[in-house]
Amino acid sequence: MANLLPIRDVMPHMKNWSCIITVQEKQQVTNSLGTPTRKQKFVFYDSEGSRVEGIIFNDDIPRMSQILQVYKKYKISNAEVRPIPQKFQTSDLTIQWVISSRTVIDEIPDDDAVMAVKFCYSKFTDLVQYMDDKTKSVDVLGVVISALERKTITKNSRQSDVQKFVLLNEESQTVLLSLWDNFLTNEGAEMLSKLHSYPVIIARRVKVNNYNGVALGTWFDSAILVDPPIQEARELKNWALRNTNLIKELVEKMDYIKYNPQLSLKPDQKTTWICNITSTQKTVWVKAQISFDHIFQKYWYMSCKNCCRATAADYEVVFTCNSCKEKHPAIPRCRFDVDLTDSTGVIPASVFGELAEKLLTFNGLEAMQHFDQNVELPLEFVHNELKSKMFLLHIKPVQTQLADARQRYTIIYYSEIDDPTASIQLTSQTEDDSSFLGKEVDNVRLGTPGGDSDRSKICVRLSDRFDEPQNVELDVDENAECSSSKKQKLI
Ligand SMILES: [Zn+2]
Repeated sequence: MANLLPIRDVMPHMKNWSCIITVQEKQQVTNSLGTPTRKQKFVFYDSEGSRVEGIIFNDDIPRMSQILQVYKKYKISNAEVRPIPQKFQTSDLTIQWVISSRTVIDEIPDDDAVMAVKFCYSKFTDLVQYMDDKTKSVDVLGVVISALERKTITKNSRQSDVQKFVLLNEESQTVLLSLWDNFLTNEGAEMLSKLHSYPVIIARRVKVNNYNGVALGTWFDSAILVDPPIQEARELKNWALRNTNLIKELVEKMDYIKYNPQLSLKPDQKTTWICNITSTQKTVWVKAQISFDHIFQKYWYMSCKNCCRATAADYEVVFTCNSCKEKHPAIPRCRFDVDLTDSTGVIPASVFGELAEKLLTFNGLEAMQHFDQNVELPLEFVHNELKSKMFLLHIKPVQTQLADARQRYTIIYYSEIDDPTASIQLTSQTEDDSSFLGKEVDNVRLGTPGGDSDRSKICVRLSDRFDEPQNVELDVDENAECSSSKKQKLI
């Protein structure tokens, strides 16, 4: 007769034991890097709240994986118990039970108890601290209110499926979570099928990415718990059920696809001097003046209404888009080139969509109509206003470079800095100017402030590109504000 033990008393290499556990997590089947080994990991917990890793290898996966369902209770006997080698420890668990076809597993009817485990969730507003930190992942709790369009992309010559889900917290803040490949097939499908009933998820060990501001994404070690029997999750679902009108409104407005300064801007946001920007930085914060040329510029391009890609189709003509493969009318979208200048240098940047319209004070349609009538936009006022304004900007490099090797940037966010005296003579108090003189080797090549002739040339060259609309290489992902988002209808 096997001894019925709690998890903490089951020691490595022990035989003849049984333990009653609940499956807290069931991860995706993964391959070990560079080996043919496949494995699937689980997290089990017991009534004392102790946890242990379960693992199934190779041919045992199809036989045993089905038996163990998440949140269900089982009596497990005589799994092989062993310490997890340090280099394979991805959480705080140090012991694993190897489940094989010899392991005895009996399901125990459960009274739908609340999980006895505690999680530490990151607040949405704290996520920015972990942005692009490859060594860190976070746990978040949120109610899924909508999903964007599923996409297939090619990454490192391998096809991947990805879909973004919109998570909401009780502060009515939203953040996008990208589910990749197997996560999409498994938990993603479950989330979609439950979308009408506000599924609450705990996303464990997800990465904080820098995608039009803060965004979350799964990676190999993540786990998504859908409607887990956990107190906080139930409270959040009840909150959602009490606030269906608010949620409908959020889904209708779709503000969650826009850059969200509330989440992505730190209270004491540090900025970089333009001369210190390196090409390795994924995104950069700068304080700068925005200016653009007085010479004739085309402030718009014809785009697919759905995905913002450039098209040769005429205004309002419905066409099948090469990019999103759907039929949509062509509409003019605002886009133009500006220079960002601080006291240390100047860089070229492009601004798109709503951000561009606000800066220009004309929308894409107005810009197009002026262009068609060969009338310049009346921009004197805008140019004058910009002279006295200072902006805080979040920019990211564009992959394609100009012929003169100057790195181009896309503005993903800007806001005017209130204090008008904080002009171009901005002091270095808040900024790191330590390497001001000793420019690093990988610095981008900079223009000189006031080097007007150079700048005009660049603008002209950029405008030239518009003669062939197909060549406007817009990364849709950079312009999430317009990113195609056939929202799944909620309710
Ligand atoms: Zn399209």
